[in-house]
Amino acid sequence: MKYPPEPFRIKTVEAIARTTDWERLAVIQDAGYNVFNIPAEKIYIDLLTDSGTSAMSDNQWAGMMKGDESYAGSKNYFHFEAMINKIFGFKHVIPTHQGRVAENLLFSTILKDRKGLVIPNNNHFDTTRANVEYNGGRAEDLVIDIAKDTQAIDDFKGNIDLDKLANLIHNVGAKNIPIGMLTITNNSGGGQPVSMANIRGTAELLHKHEIPFYIDACRFAENAYFIKIREDGYQDKSILEIANEMFSYADGCTMSAKKDALVNMGGFFATNDDELAQQITNRLILIEGFPTYGGLAGRDLEAIAIGLEEVLHEDYLAYRISQVEELGDRLIEAGVPILRPTGGHAVYLDAKNFLPHIPQSQFPGIALTVSLYTHAGIRAVEIGSLMFAHDDPETGETIYPHLELVRLAIPRRVYTNSQMQYVAENIIELYEDRENIGGYEIEYQAQVLRHFTARLKPLQ
Ligand SMILES: *Cc1c(COP(=O)(O)O)cnc(C)c1O
Repeated sequence: MKYPPEPFRIKTVEAIARTTDWERLAVIQDAGYNVFNIPAEKIYIDLLTDSGTSAMSDNQWAGMMKGDESYAGSKNYFHFEAMINKIFGFKHVIPTHQGRVAENLLFSTILKDRKGLVIPNNNHFDTTRANVEYNGGRAEDLVIDIAKDTQAIDDFKGNIDLDKLANLIHNVGAKNIPIGMLTITNNSGGGQPVSMANIRGTAELLHKHEIPFYIDACRFAENAYFIKIREDGYQDKSILEIANEMFSYADGCTMSAKKDALVNMGGFFATNDDELAQQITNRLILIEGFPTYGGLAGRDLEAIAIGLEEVLHEDYLAYRISQVEELGDRLIEAGVPILRPTGGHAVYLDAKNFLPHIPQSQFPGIALTVSLYTHAGIRAVEIGSLMFAHDDPETGETIYPHLELVRLAIPRRVYTNSQMQYVAENIIELYEDRENIGGYEIEYQAQVLRHFTARLKPLQ
């Protein structure tokens, strides 16, 4: 079967409202044409993010009832730790309440009191980059060149370019690279996977220069599934075996449990480095809490432990990856321009080619995002000029990003395939009517991270 059906049935339902066209026009106007300002109750299908939006299983909810809320030594911590040991195999496991706290703990420790340090990665996720830069480091993105071509088909477009990595080590010196990283799958690069060969190659190169290797593991199970179906020699291996091999090459990882641990909040840091674990634990106590809860309730740790077990199930991953792929395929068949191939967690519309009559200065990604909402109650997110355009500090000229994307992130186990069909059909309708979509201008913007709070208005 090309697109395997849902490997679950529905036990509890949450009503979602279908608003009228007139209602949505009023809502979007109130929201300053920025979908971040829309109350979630006014959204029909919410594809803003796949982070923290998963549906938990009956087992996870049952686990929540078994929360042991002891301040120290909660039994749920030991379950959480055992599960992480089984999959990731690192010596020390430190819970945090989000992935970015794991990043904060790591970078505030390894970059402290030293200047000019560099962190290589395939692509840093935005919170990872922010944590590196805030702590005085330089974040280098070294993804393979083909990843920049939205139409190039490649099995592992998330791979790091090992020649670029070798050059970086040569140019800045191994002593100025406290760790090297890989993000699997590569979120900022369209959710594209990294091959086992590339993970192994990265580890070998870094270790040859005595540089520790860490993995940003948010979507490790989706990445493992891509390895299974696309890389020679892995077809007969289980997802657990593949995950074990991936992490066997690394010295530790950061993880947002809001992705592949199938929960709404949580994260962790794990490492084999005793001294680093000690330093990070001390800092954890200062900012998150005691080492057996790290900012989470016992019940949250339990839900993560169970979610990590469930995410390894192959029928779940087959359904998950193919739900995203099917949405992409429907759009491609209708000629809608999207980033290819579809990644693990989202479909990205290419707004520049969808709306070629709108210049980047008039925010084609915003125009498409607004239309998706007003036409069908679908919330997506612009990853384009509103997010990234900035003025050159010397010339004052506006520098626009290479791509104008609109991301449709698919929450895990949340929407049915018929709801996904609704999404596809409405996007195709918009595409057929694209000439009637116009550009926008900014009415209000903040100094930093303006896309969250900006207010815009349509150009007539
Ligand atoms: C979501 C994410 C993070 C940050 O995790 P939070 O739980 O949102 O703090 C880091 N890296 C990647 C690749 C992510 O997708």
